[in-house]
Amino acid sequence: MKKYKGGCICGEVKFTVNLDDKLRVYNCHCIDCRKKVGGMITIIDLREDAIEVDKTKLGTYEHLGGSGNLIKKYYCKKCTAPILTYVDKWKKLYLYAGMLDDISILKTANNIYYEDSHFPFMEIKENKIKL
Ligand SMILES: [Zn+2]
Ligand SMILES: [Zn+2]
Repeated sequence: MKKYKGGCICGEVKFTVNLDDKLRVYNCHCIDCRKKVGGMITIIDLREDAIEVDKTKLGTYEHLGGSGNLIKKYYCKKCTAPILTYVDKWKKLYLYAGMLDDISILKTANNIYYEDSHFPFMEIKENKIKL
């Protein structure tokens, strides 16, 4: 495990995150993610208590996912940049990968909900997995 730093575009939210050497990274092409941020998103599966962040600076938005599961999105209260998403079904917290200051560690990613709802112009040759 190594520590990495990140934050939002306005600089209000800063965090430190512990990540494994083998990262679990997903490109999510689902409609919910698209509607939340305006495009495909990339997230990193976090271990419990992996992130240190001042939660008072984060706003939250809850909605029900495709199969009726609660999903909670954390974003910067000031600039609204997405920081984290919590999926109740798996009791897992995910970090929006683009919030890392250094993205050179993101070598590969699995694509989820690609067949269902990817942008027609986006041809992906990397791993596609079905959930
Ligand atoms: Zn911000
Ligand atoms: Zn999604």
